[in-house]
Amino acid sequence: MARVYNFSAGPAVLPEEVLQQAADEMLDYEGCGMSVMEMSHRSAAFTKIITEAEADLRELMNIPDNYKVLFLQGGDSLLFASVFMNLATNGKADYIVTGSWSKKALKEAEILGDPKVVATGADDNFSSIPDLSDLDIRDDASYVYICENETIQGNRIHELPNTKGHVLVADQSSMFLSEPVDVSKYGLIHAGVQKNVGPSGVQIVIVREDLIPDDLPGVPTMLRFKTQADAGSLYNTPPCYGIYVCGLVFKWIKELGGLEAMKERNEAKAKLLYDFLDQSELFKGTVVPEDRSIMNVPFVTGDEELDKKFIAEATAAGLVNIKGHRSVGGMRASIYNAMPIEGVQALVDFMGEFEANNK
Ligand SMILES: *Cc1c(COP(=O)(O)O)cnc(C)c1O
Repeated sequence: MARVYNFSAGPAVLPEEVLQQAADEMLDYEGCGMSVMEMSHRSAAFTKIITEAEADLRELMNIPDNYKVLFLQGGDSLLFASVFMNLATNGKADYIVTGSWSKKALKEAEILGDPKVVATGADDNFSSIPDLSDLDIRDDASYVYICENETIQGNRIHELPNTKGHVLVADQSSMFLSEPVDVSKYGLIHAGVQKNVGPSGVQIVIVREDLIPDDLPGVPTMLRFKTQADAGSLYNTPPCYGIYVCGLVFKWIKELGGLEAMKERNEAKAKLLYDFLDQSELFKGTVVPEDRSIMNVPFVTGDEELDKKFIAEATAAGLVNIKGHRSVGGMRASIYNAMPIEGVQALVDFMGEFEANNK
C-alpha cells in the first residue's frame, strides 16, 4: 500500500485512522452483520450513529442549545439557494464577495430576489479582503453573507464583518472544524463536508432556531429547513454512510484534543509553507500575508511552463493534486486537518530542491 500526500481541495484527504476503522467495519458494523451502507436509516444502529455524530459535533463546536444541526444533501451549492429561500423571506440580503464561492452564492440570490453587494475584493483579484468594519448594509437586509475561507483564491476573513445588528450567514466549507469558532456570532453556518471533514454528499447546516420559518409558501418541502429540523435530519433517507464517516472524524478530532488542537496543528503547517514561500526566490504566495487562509495555499512561479513542470515533478514524487483551480492557474496546496505536518514538510523540501534545480 502506498499512500500519497494528497493536497486536493476537495474531496480531500481523510485521517488514515478513520479510513482504517471504516474498512474494519465494512462487512460487519458492530455485530450487525452488515455494513452501514446496507442498513435502514430508521434502524437502532443508524439512530445511534447520527445521534452520536450530532452530539459530538455540538461538543466540538460548543453549539448553543437554540441552534439546530442539520445533515443535508444536494451539494453545498444548493445551499446558496436554500439559505436565501429560508432566511431572506423579504427577498433582500447583503453579500460580501471575496472570491469564487461567495460570487456563486450571490448569483443564486440574484435568481431568487434582490441581493446587494456591500463589499468586494474583485478589484485586486481577491488577493486581499476588503475593509468590513463599516459597510453600507440595508436596514431591511435579512442577513449579511460571507464565505469565510475562499477555497479557490486561498483568502480568509480573519475578522468577522460589522453587520450592524444584522444576522451573519457564513459558508465555512473549507475551514469547518479547522479551529474554534463562536457559533453564537452567526445566524447560520453551512459547510460541505468533503473539504475538511468527510466524504462528499453531506452538508452540515447550523442554524439559530428562530431563523427557521414555520411557513414558506411556494417553497418545496425538501428546500425548507423546517422539514429536516423537525425530523432530526431523517425526513427522508439521509446520506447515511457519509454521516457515519463524519461521525468517525468528529471522534478523531476529539481524541486529538478538539478544535484548539486542530488550530495549533493547522497553524504550524501553514507557517511552514508560508515561511518557505516568503523566502523563496522562485515561488510566491498570491494572497497578502494578513488575509491568507491556513487551509488552502495558492502559489505561483510567475512562469506557466515552470508551474506545469513543477506540478508534473511533484506528482511523480507522490505530492499529488497540487494544481491550482482551473479558473486561477498556478498551484494550490490544500492542507486540511487530516494532512500530517510530514506531508507539508515533504512539499517544502521538494519545492526547495526544485528551486535549486531551476535557477
Ligand atoms: C466546494 C465549496 C462549495 C461547493 O460545494 P459543492 O458541494 O460542490 O456544491 C461551496 N463553498 C465552498 C467554500 C467550497 O469550498
